[in-house]
Amino acid sequence: MIGTVTTRADAQALDAADPLAAFRDRFTGDGPDGSWDDGPDRRLYLDGNSLGRLPRATPAAVARVVEQEWGAGLVGSWSQWVSQAGRVGDALAAGVLGARPGEVLVSDSTSIDLFKLLVAGCDARPGRDVVVCCADDFPTDRYVVAGVAAQKGLTVREVAADIDAGLDLDVLAAALDGRVAVVVLSLVAYRSGALVDLAAVTALAREHGALVLWDLSHAAGSVEVDLDAGGADLAVGCTYKHLNGGPGAPAFLYVRRELQADLRQPVWGWFGQRDQFAMGPEYDPAPGVDRFAVGTPPVLATAAVEVGVGITAEAGIAAVAAKGRALTDLLVALADERLPALQLASPRDAARRGAHVSFAHPQAWQLTQALVDRGVVPDFRTPDRVRFGPAPLYTRFVDVFDAVERLADVLATGAHEGYPTRRSRVT
Ligand SMILES: *Cc1c(COP(=O)(O)O)cnc(C)c1O
Repeated sequence: MIGTVTTRADAQALDAADPLAAFRDRFTGDGPDGSWDDGPDRRLYLDGNSLGRLPRATPAAVARVVEQEWGAGLVGSWSQWVSQAGRVGDALAAGVLGARPGEVLVSDSTSIDLFKLLVAGCDARPGRDVVVCCADDFPTDRYVVAGVAAQKGLTVREVAADIDAGLDLDVLAAALDGRVAVVVLSLVAYRSGALVDLAAVTALAREHGALVLWDLSHAAGSVEVDLDAGGADLAVGCTYKHLNGGPGAPAFLYVRRELQADLRQPVWGWFGQRDQFAMGPEYDPAPGVDRFAVGTPPVLATAAVEVGVGITAEAGIAAVAAKGRALTDLLVALADERLPALQLASPRDAARRGAHVSFAHPQAWQLTQALVDRGVVPDFRTPDRVRFGPAPLYTRFVDVFDAVERLADVLATGAHEGYPTRRSRVT
């Protein structure tokens, strides 16, 4: 179907047949008062995997918590707020992650949750002294692994991954043995979008007695994760990318129910306590997933997460993932046809990637700047990649088509050559 798209009308036909088309109106557009500007000069936001758009329902949901629960209810509202992190966690579990109730908690940031679960996982494998991670994983993952290893006297074993094709299971298998306590891996690679087989990796690690701690930051809300069916043990991920929870939104953590009682996280806070308001003398962790909470949760930000998660759950993650594959397939097909200067830097098979794709170009940073000035928003990723994340809930096929037109125009006119080669602080 995608292979036959050569005209704008073809792309419009795909939009007309899109079962998720109506979800676009659930988000704030770039027109006046947040309407959708459908004109030829409109912004084409293809960076939903860095920061998702604002759902239209979010400001009122946050305002309600601010005005009614905080403003009017004051401290009495804690009776609702204490269960919020678990309630939104359960919604994520059921609607997005394929997990069971009581396995997911919204808490802290991805980096902090990674730290908590990595320490807990290592402690649950006494006598083992190696943590495996991927040499090409997102920086915070590698830094947290290095920091935990330094603190606990463990050795980090980095496995190489092709920065475009992703991790090869044979390479991972060669790094596993009886010394490995935990394997830390992203399900969807942040740069290339390469998707790893969760069930296969989990089974492989289990053969060696190791736990896998998944980072789902680019996977949550973009692919079907199926933590329970895949046998996953531990996971973390963020909610401000494909889940549209907003800047700085709290992250989530997942711990398989059967493991919870055996795991102890390193930050012993009162929100993880069995009987929090007994104010007892000693830390006695709660029996369930609550033991992975630490301190007072970000109630206002979590209200925004609840809205974002609800939209994805309502759309259905299978439909969202299918559209993600179709949108990126269209981008790849059009680039093959019209953008010979760009080289695909992601798996070509849509079943092997998340909802974003990257292309390599020697002047990728200049190209990114030229695109942003022309209303196309991708992001630049080292060393020479332009990354496009056409978020399925609000990106149309015609938006991808028009972005390729503008990209073709920049390349044909050499407009990018006039942009500085020096990078800004945020790319
Ligand atoms: C976005 C992202 C993070 C973000 O971590 P924060 O603690 O929210 O800054 C972590 N890991 C991966 C793989 C990511 O893509």
